[in-house]
Amino acid sequence: MLQVDKLCAHYGTSQALFDINLRLESGQVATLLGRNGMGKTTTIHSIMGIVAPSGGSIEFEGQQLVGQPSYKIANLGIGLVPEGRQIFPNLSVRENLVATASNHLKQPNPWSLQSVIELFPEIKPRLGIMGNLLSGGEQQMLAIGRALMTNPKLLVLDEATEGLAPLVRRRIWQALDHIRQTGLSILIVDKNLHDLMRLADQHFIIQRGQTVWHGNSDALENDTSARETYLGL
Ligand code: ATP
Repeated sequence: MLQVDKLCAHYGTSQALFDINLRLESGQVATLLGRNGMGKTTTIHSIMGIVAPSGGSIEFEGQQLVGQPSYKIANLGIGLVPEGRQIFPNLSVRENLVATASNHLKQPNPWSLQSVIELFPEIKPRLGIMGNLLSGGEQQMLAIGRALMTNPKLLVLDEATEGLAPLVRRRIWQALDHIRQTGLSILIVDKNLHDLMRLADQHFIIQRGQTVWHGNSDALENDTSARETYLGL
């Protein structure tokens, strides 16, 4: 579904990505792991067309994404839950959910306000208030709901549970588990390796802008050296 080959990216003269390679099959959950500043967000921004890659290839369902504007990439079926949530502060929770809702790809059983509320009943009583009045956990639920309502084929989460209390984190993992069971493919950046091991099929570790390790959860569990060297865990 998604194939990233030899991806490079620069910020001005400073090179952030040198050689990113990753592959995600349809229906799979994959993670992008690595310490702070190693290039995870830049990789995600390159996939989404927010950062213009300086080399390499990103194919999504056979279509080249490099050079395409973000809105076209989103319309191809990639939904982003951005780092920091980026809730529209001056829109109500309901408006946040419906403002960008669509089903360009005519997906069967599309996500709706109703099904998002079923997934996150916590936000039902909050529908009428402004997005910026939600707690961090509620904002993350809203950000996931907003992305789902674009009915993507691939959901990309940058820092899925950053800054959230353990109980709220558990809710987010539960929801992602439910979402994966609907067949949606998911690419996650997060630091909670323990939870990711249970949820994900494949892991890709990035070190200084390069993919240095990939494998499944069993391989990562057994590779103490990789976990210590690349993740400090
Ligand atoms: P974190 O977990 O801290 O978010 P990350 O793995 O997502 O880290 P990136 O944010 O992709 O890493 O950063 C990769 C490199 O690019 C870092 O050296 C960072 O300082 C640099 N970088 C990121 N954004 C910019 C920017 N807008 N301008 C210049 N350099 C940047």
